[in-house]
Amino acid sequence: MNDHITKNQFIEDEILFLKKKKNAVILAHYYQDEDIQDIADFVGDSLDLSRKAANTNAEIIVFCGVKFMAEVAKILSPKKKVILPDLNAGCSLEESCPPKKFKQFKDQYPHHKVISYINCSAEIKSLSDVIVTSSNAKKIIDSFSKSEKIIFAPDKHLGHYLNKITGRNMILWDGFCIVHETFSEREIIKLKLTNDDAEIIAHPECPERILNHSDHIGSTSSLLNYVRKSKSEKFIIATEPHIIHQMKKIAPEKKFIPAPVSNENCSCSNCPFMELNTMEKLRDCLAKVQPEITLSNQMLLTAKKPLIRMLQLS
Ligand code: SF4
Repeated sequence: MNDHITKNQFIEDEILFLKKKKNAVILAHYYQDEDIQDIADFVGDSLDLSRKAANTNAEIIVFCGVKFMAEVAKILSPKKKVILPDLNAGCSLEESCPPKKFKQFKDQYPHHKVISYINCSAEIKSLSDVIVTSSNAKKIIDSFSKSEKIIFAPDKHLGHYLNKITGRNMILWDGFCIVHETFSEREIIKLKLTNDDAEIIAHPECPERILNHSDHIGSTSSLLNYVRKSKSEKFIIATEPHIIHQMKKIAPEKKFIPAPVSNENCSCSNCPFMELNTMEKLRDCLAKVQPEITLSNQMLLTAKKPLIRMLQLS
C-alpha cells in the first residue's frame, strides 16, 4: 500500500514537473481514472475541455480522453501540439461509423442535412452540416425548420431520444456506445426495488429501455448539476462510473450507485478505451511529446466548419 502511494506520488511529481517545463495543459474527461482527473488542470466534457484549452497560453494540450476528443482540441487549437497518453484510445461510437460507409449512406439522401454527435471522427465531422453535444443537441435541432429533413449520426440511441423530445423523424445511423448499451434493465429494476429512495439518472447514449426508468436524463454536466440540486440522497448512475468521482466532490454526503450491467465477462461499466490511459502513459507522453494528433490542413478546415456552426447555434 505504502509502495503504491510512494510510486504514485513519484509519478505525479514527474507529471507536474514535465507539465511546467513543457508549458502544457492537462485535460481529463469525466470518464478518466480518478488519479488522472485529480492531476488535470481541467476536468469536463470533451467540448468544454477543448474550449478551455484553446483559451490558455499552453503550447501543448495533453488530452486524457479518447482520440476524437483530442481531434476536437486540435481543430479548435490548430497551432498547439495536441497529444494523448495512448493513441489506441478510440471509441466504439466512433468506430461504428466508418467514413466511407457513412458517405455512401449520406449520398442516398441528397436533400437531408447531416447533424452529427461530437463523438465521431474528424472525417465524419467534415461530412456533417453541424455538430452537436448531448447538452446542446435539442436546441440546435429545434433551430432547423420543421420541414428540414435530417440525418443524425452516429448514435442511434441518442438520435431516438432526440426524435422523441423534438418531435422529429430524423434518419438515424445505426451506431451505439458499448458502455451505455451494456446496462441491464432487469438488474436496474432489481436494484431500484431494494433502493426505492434512489433516483435513476442516465446519459441519453443509453438505450430507451434504460431511459424509460430514469428520473433524469442528461449530458455529463447535466447529471452533475442534477445531483447537486436534487433533494434525493441516493442515485443510481447510468453512465460511465468514473463520473462518480466528481459527484462525490460536489455532494460528498450523497450516495452514488453505478448502474448494473448485463455483461457476463465483466461486472463493471468502465469505458475500455478511456482505461487505456494511465498515469505512466500520461508521464511518458509529456516526456516525449507524443503520440501527437495530426490532421491535414484540409481536414482541419472542413471539420471545423460544422463545429463553428454548433458554437454559433448553441
Ligand atoms: Fe466512446 Fe462510449 Fe467510451 Fe464514451 S463511453 S468514449 S462514447 S465508447
